[in-house]
Amino acid sequence: MKVIQIPLNPFSMNCYIYFDETSGDGIIIDPGAFTEAEKNNIRRITEDNDIKIKYIVNTHGHLDHILGNKFAKDYFKVPVMMHQSDVFLLDNSSEQARFFGLDFPPPPPVDEYITNDTSVSLNGTELKFINTPGHSPGSVCIIDDKNKNVFCGDLIFKNSVGRTDLQGGDIKILLDSIKNKLFKVSKDDYTLHPGHMEITNVKDEKKFNPFLQKDFKY
Ligand SMILES: [Zn+2]
Ligand SMILES: [Zn+2]
Repeated sequence: MKVIQIPLNPFSMNCYIYFDETSGDGIIIDPGAFTEAEKNNIRRITEDNDIKIKYIVNTHGHLDHILGNKFAKDYFKVPVMMHQSDVFLLDNSSEQARFFGLDFPPPPPVDEYITNDTSVSLNGTELKFINTPGHSPGSVCIIDDKNKNVFCGDLIFKNSVGRTDLQGGDIKILLDSIKNKLFKVSKDDYTLHPGHMEITNVKDEKKFNPFLQKDFKY
């Protein structure tokens, strides 16, 4: 499996394309493309690598992560997946965009709701999903146990955690999601691919993340 990280849009979020290099089967995670150049870049990456996008997956419903949903849906013509608890954010997104002065057409509806029972198979590589609320109620992590990769959205960042001052955010719930949900199913050597900034791994966050350090002995 190959990860392509694509930083996008005025909010500097990370879009990811995650795909199986043999079959080309892949998913696009948080396709936040906003400008034509950003959209062209995603088109070019998928064409150059012969990637067959099977799903558009949103780690959560915040504006920066769904800015390119319409573009991705129109271009790839595949289902949009998101947790049902974040649909209210999708519904508010055009209003949010106006607040930031962005011209943003209403995003397409969610086609498949992500639950803790959801899984996606990419040429035999199983991706599982867990709901990890706190940054938003419907935030999810996407986990590939075989290749030890986690796409964690805005739950946790290198040496930091997602903000919890937005609608539906809660720091207690967020820390519980990291410690008792994400870290229960991902081992120390799992790579974390966050929604902003650079990649990290579970062990480094247990060791160095000021929000978590005291809970883990290293
Ligand atoms: Zn967010
Ligand atoms: Zn974000």
